[in-house]
Amino acid sequence: MKVTILGARGSVPTDGDNMRVFGGATSCIMVEADGSVIFLDAGTGMMRAPDIHPPHATILLTHPHIDHLIGLPFFPYLYQSGTVIDIYAGTKEGLDARAQIDSFLSPPRWPCTIDEYPAKAICHTIAAPFEVDNVKVSFMDSNHPGGSTIFRLDHGGTSLVYATDYEHTDEKDEQLIRFSQDADLLLYDGQYTEEEADEKRGFGHSTAQHGVMIMERCNARLLRLIHHHPIHTDADLLRMEDMVRDDNISFARQGEIICLQK
Ligand SMILES: [Zn+2]
Ligand SMILES: [Zn+2]
Repeated sequence: MKVTILGARGSVPTDGDNMRVFGGATSCIMVEADGSVIFLDAGTGMMRAPDIHPPHATILLTHPHIDHLIGLPFFPYLYQSGTVIDIYAGTKEGLDARAQIDSFLSPPRWPCTIDEYPAKAICHTIAAPFEVDNVKVSFMDSNHPGGSTIFRLDHGGTSLVYATDYEHTDEKDEQLIRFSQDADLLLYDGQYTEEEADEKRGFGHSTAQHGVMIMERCNARLLRLIHHHPIHTDADLLRMEDMVRDDNISFARQGEIICLQK
């Protein structure tokens, strides 16, 4: 699987000369596997989707918080007729997948619905593991206000776990460690410093240090910290990264490509 970090910022998009190293686009990870193209979340990173325009693409939406949906109106593949886009999401706040998309992509927040784009979008509300071509998709509930979904993709003997918008608790950690066992890549919510995490209990995010503990306990090979706090500058993030960095651990950078091979 080829993994491209299109957006690694959390909560809201950012910009500025002091945010160039890690980027300001919000959550969107592109995964390519044997011709399948899967997007994890639809943050503003999605606007940077490469110009390959596959006839079919898939979006796995963790939850409908705005930073995870705000790139969808300008998703380039939506503007191509003949393209089919399958969008999968678990029920959140009583809303099925389609209602979550409509909650953002419809008047008064947006002038049209997703049906009015040239591409055909099909929404699926998920309840059990499923497959996208040859990629096995499994999921578990995160601990996050309003709920969020943690996804695992397995393909050709390689695997990744996308654990964004996750606040650690002992009970959830045990579940996440089992779920992420032997993953090649763990993408983990490292939004807060340890001090911030203490102050912001219940906000639904975690720390790099906790990500390292999860990585070690689930025997993941690589760790990338994601969902960078919008107020953290490059200097802040480099300082936070220094505390955990090694050959296999770093903070995700917008534009970074990670190839997972057996
Ligand atoms: Zn978020
Ligand atoms: Zn969220």
